[in-house]
Amino acid sequence: MVKIETLNTIPIGRLVNLSLPCPCGQTHTVETRDIAFGEGALETLPALVEAYAGPGARVFIAAGADTVSVCGGNARKILAARNFKADMLVYESGQPPTRQNADRILNAPEDTRVLIGAGGGAVCDMVKYAAYKLKLPCIMVAADFSDSFLSPFSMIGNAGFKEIYVTVAPAALVMDVNLLQYAGEAVVGSGFGALAAKPVALSDWYISHVVTGEGYCPAIAELALCASELAAAPFKRGAGAKARAAELAELSVRSSVLTQLLKNSRLVNGGETHLAHALEMLCAAQNRTRRLYGENLFLAAAFLSKVYLKFFSESEKGFCPPPDLNLRGERIAARFGVGEAEAMSRVKPYPEADKFEVTRHKYAEYRADFLSLAKRAAARVAEAHTIFKRLYADAGYWIKSCYSAEDYGLCMSLAPDIREKYTVLRHMRDEGLLDRYLLGSG
Ligand SMILES: [Zn+2]
Repeated sequence: MVKIETLNTIPIGRLVNLSLPCPCGQTHTVETRDIAFGEGALETLPALVEAYAGPGARVFIAAGADTVSVCGGNARKILAARNFKADMLVYESGQPPTRQNADRILNAPEDTRVLIGAGGGAVCDMVKYAAYKLKLPCIMVAADFSDSFLSPFSMIGNAGFKEIYVTVAPAALVMDVNLLQYAGEAVVGSGFGALAAKPVALSDWYISHVVTGEGYCPAIAELALCASELAAAPFKRGAGAKARAAELAELSVRSSVLTQLLKNSRLVNGGETHLAHALEMLCAAQNRTRRLYGENLFLAAAFLSKVYLKFFSESEKGFCPPPDLNLRGERIAARFGVGEAEAMSRVKPYPEADKFEVTRHKYAEYRADFLSLAKRAAARVAEAHTIFKRLYADAGYWIKSCYSAEDYGLCMSLAPDIREKYTVLRHMRDEGLLDRYLLGSG
């Protein structure tokens, strides 16, 4: 029987149909039935479709335009050659994963038996969303290094905000390294960035566990941290494009399996994710160039790991007035271009006085513990940052030019109000430490 501690080392094809009793008291499960991984894995697609839907079944492929020539188009060709009826919807370049866009998949022909997401994480999130609504099995054919392919939820935009919807665990994942070896620097940077940003998400998870009593699994946290650290290895030793793609792809799949084991979004839902979402909203509202999701995640982690370190390093914060909730709602509406009522409805109420005192005591009691966690996270992210910069031909120039200090300040300040999960930023907000970034940003 597979043991949870061995998940980072057992062959990737065995990370399916798992039921793992864990020292945390839970039994973690993986429902995904097949993972086809490696060079030429795409050739296994017809056999998978046949296993789930029978020979000659009708399938519906949702594909991303950027990768359709290597991924979606090839998937369709291979299926057609084996007499499957394959309809295809191609999302134009840069189409965000919104509910409106995801709903286009719901128009698939009625006799469709399997949905296929052929593209990056965003396309596949929409396919999982549609598969859940249509009650159909879905197969992911990966065209980037997203670590969300196997997660049982989807990040989908709604009314200008990004939400996490509980959807379905895909029946199968096909990750063909041949499709990934020519990925450009941004796609590689995004894949590496998403993995390398994890220490911040893991800090938030642990702190939320201590402060709010949120469930925590040390075994999964350890595996996620390990996958995050291993992501640097091919870059450190200067591996060639193909070996690098294979290693990064494998770690992304392993990380993705962990989100399915956990059955909640905590591994992809720390302060760095909330800040990345705020940066995306800012770029959308101002028609600025949008970076890939994993790129934003890493930039957010690099910024936030320093903020957390500073926060836990200072014992005396001095007096700050509590957060101005109306001002926060106004800024969300004005700077992110969303409706004012919608913005106000997102702003969290100020915590009740006695509950907040308990929270404060927790932060004081565990400060040394949290500080050492923040130190470790900041050191890991700083090391990854040098690799991240080196990945780009312009030696990280765009990283500096991408967001200003004001952008980071504004987005960090509003991040705890645009998403639900508890993070250290929520506490900083309640302490009144974030409002100063809003003043003068009207
Ligand atoms: Zn566990």
